[in-house]
Amino acid sequence: MSDNETTTANDNQPPTITDAGAPFDNPDADVILQSADNVNFRVFKLFLSLASPFFKDMFALPQTPVGDNSNEMKEGLPVIQVAEEARTLERLLIICYPVDVPAVESLKDVHSLLQVAMKYNMERAEKKAIEWLFAPQFLDQDPVLLFFIACHYRMKEALMAAKATVGRPILERPYAAEMEHISAGQLYHLLAYQKRCKKVIIAVATDFTWIALTSSVTQYCGNCSTKKAKIGEGYLRSLPSWWFDYMQGIVAALKNETWHQGKNADLMNEAWKQGWKCGSCGPKVVDDVQEFTDKFRAEVKQEISKVSACLVFAWSISHIHFVARFSWTSTFNTQGRHIIRIREAAFKLPGVRIILP
Ligand SMILES: [Zn+2]
Repeated sequence: MSDNETTTANDNQPPTITDAGAPFDNPDADVILQSADNVNFRVFKLFLSLASPFFKDMFALPQTPVGDNSNEMKEGLPVIQVAEEARTLERLLIICYPVDVPAVESLKDVHSLLQVAMKYNMERAEKKAIEWLFAPQFLDQDPVLLFFIACHYRMKEALMAAKATVGRPILERPYAAEMEHISAGQLYHLLAYQKRCKKVIIAVATDFTWIALTSSVTQYCGNCSTKKAKIGEGYLRSLPSWWFDYMQGIVAALKNETWHQGKNADLMNEAWKQGWKCGSCGPKVVDDVQEFTDKFRAEVKQEISKVSACLVFAWSISHIHFVARFSWTSTFNTQGRHIIRIREAAFKLPGVRIILP
């Protein structure tokens, strides 16, 4: 037998098919979804139909309309081959079932879930994916990536993601395929927004008139108050030197594009260390720095909320025609529904300006 014949014989061997675990092994299920990596999920048509108009329409048809082997049967049940891998399919299907839904821990998994939920027009799964996607955990982990995703799907959460990108230079993170989905205009407006926010934070970290005279951290210390600053209504007061260093550290990090939550924690640690060296400040420096930092963050948050967000979703005329044609003609296509929702959400979003050519 030649090498070619050997290869052909191996290629012709059927793939190993495995069965998914509970709850997708129920003997009373009435259809099998087979993942791209050959895992069979025994599911109930009713659950899928209730969760997805796509599946509802598909089950209503006399013949299964997807897959080359769509007429395949196993143990008397139709087998529908889908393009998703078992990992993603399981997460999607579990949301359709009346069981507790385990949280997804990986950002990549949540994004995959969102994509497939949109594909099959599963509103509940889509909402769940968006809720997970923009949870504080992922917003802190990779807000730039979330901004790209939000822009791609024209989500109102783009503004939330943009806020979380402040202090996260885009060029400092690795390339991501999601970058290909946003326009140069959207990238420009994100960078401009970051720049405006940085200016605002520097102002908060250098103009101390927002700090109350009663603030514990900015009380005069007989040992270490060597510099003066205006706080409150412009009252000039001598303040602890380690506190000045803390604020200067924040400003320097902002200017160097390295200010984010982790960096601020390092600066707080440094402030604690320096404060401990002063006999008067030491005993209360931990509480004082924490209390001040909380107020500083609250002030920053308030000032950033005033920064205008020109997240322009610039659509070309040809794209609008494409969207219109798509949503009018395709009742099965999930993208039509999303495009309609996107347009409504974008126009309703405060602070977001839509520029149409
Ligand atoms: Zn002191």
